[in-house]
Amino acid sequence: MPRPIEALIHTEALARNLTRARAAAPEAKVWAIVKANAYGHGIERAYAGLRGADGFALLDLAEAERIRALGWRGPVLLLEGCFEPRDLELCSRLNLWHTVHHEAQIDWLAAHKTHVPHQVFLKMNSGMNRLGFKPAAYAHAWRRLSGLTQVEGIALMTHLSDADGPRGIAHQLAVFDEATRDLPGERTVANSAATLRFAPGAENVRGDWVRPGIMVYGSSPDFPDHSIADWDLQPTMSLRAQVIAVQDLKAGEQVGYGSRFTAERDMRIGVIACGYADGYPRVVPNGTPVLIGEARTRLIGRVSMDMITIDLTAAPEAGVGSVATLWGTSPGGAVLPIDEIAAAAGTIGYELMCALAPRVPTRAV
Ligand SMILES: *Cc1c(COP(=O)(O)O)cnc(C)c1O
Repeated sequence: MPRPIEALIHTEALARNLTRARAAAPEAKVWAIVKANAYGHGIERAYAGLRGADGFALLDLAEAERIRALGWRGPVLLLEGCFEPRDLELCSRLNLWHTVHHEAQIDWLAAHKTHVPHQVFLKMNSGMNRLGFKPAAYAHAWRRLSGLTQVEGIALMTHLSDADGPRGIAHQLAVFDEATRDLPGERTVANSAATLRFAPGAENVRGDWVRPGIMVYGSSPDFPDHSIADWDLQPTMSLRAQVIAVQDLKAGEQVGYGSRFTAERDMRIGVIACGYADGYPRVVPNGTPVLIGEARTRLIGRVSMDMITIDLTAAPEAGVGSVATLWGTSPGGAVLPIDEIAAAAGTIGYELMCALAPRVPTRAV
């Protein structure tokens, strides 16, 4: 028998979360963001749930080829554009739309020989200072692109740094709207946080396309301000493993490396076949939530490479073979949001789903 651990990808939940994004911006088209192997879900598995999107956006050319290999003929957008001139050949061959965020990418396009003109997304650096043309240089870049026979359409794009936090998006939107006021073309600004928090009330946030990523994968972009239940999202990845051993502890006994947990009273604990080599974060403290069957309990002791230990007090019937859910949905439908584990680890749901280890058998359900 293989190690009793698996990750499930919930196809219907992906489709449902995508519908949530649409509901927040009904007249906009939706890019399903599938970078980083669909946030760790696997592009092929995620595609089954997300094929109702209007396009797929990612940044790795090999991932773009995988989307085309699945039979997707609609828009595919490279969010970081081309990394070198010959990437444009693949864009021409596979009809990939690509982001243009620096001058050399325009030079490459100008020198590119193609029969099929390209759709490009011209990116503005509206304050995040990662990718894009400064507002003052933006119209010039737009004019350069619009003069190229290699370019068919130019969409206008920026990315928001604080859609999930107290600073908000008004300062960047003002910059973007002002610098694009006289330019034609489709517009796109909203990631998940902006789609959920701001798109319903603001036409300039909805734009022509929204770009939801994390919300589609059942993690709240602004946890703990809002949980997935608040946003009506469902987990799309469940990490489950079985109890492989049970120990009866006397009050005062310790558990695991560094003896980090001491039993307050006599108790039963379960050893679960999941550790940091599976992508479960080592740094989480005693008390991190775990589901055993349908009951909520707590992790105790240190996370080791292949095992964690949990309190079985809440599930006296549990024993070897019982199923624990480390995040996601239990077999009976109880939900443990990945955001709770991420918060306990001092990180965000994005990082945990992307870090699911290749050794964990994963299947779509
Ligand atoms: C990753 C990404 C998104 C999606 O962000 P989420 O926070 O996951 O919704 C949107 N736009 C761009 C440019 C991105 O790189």
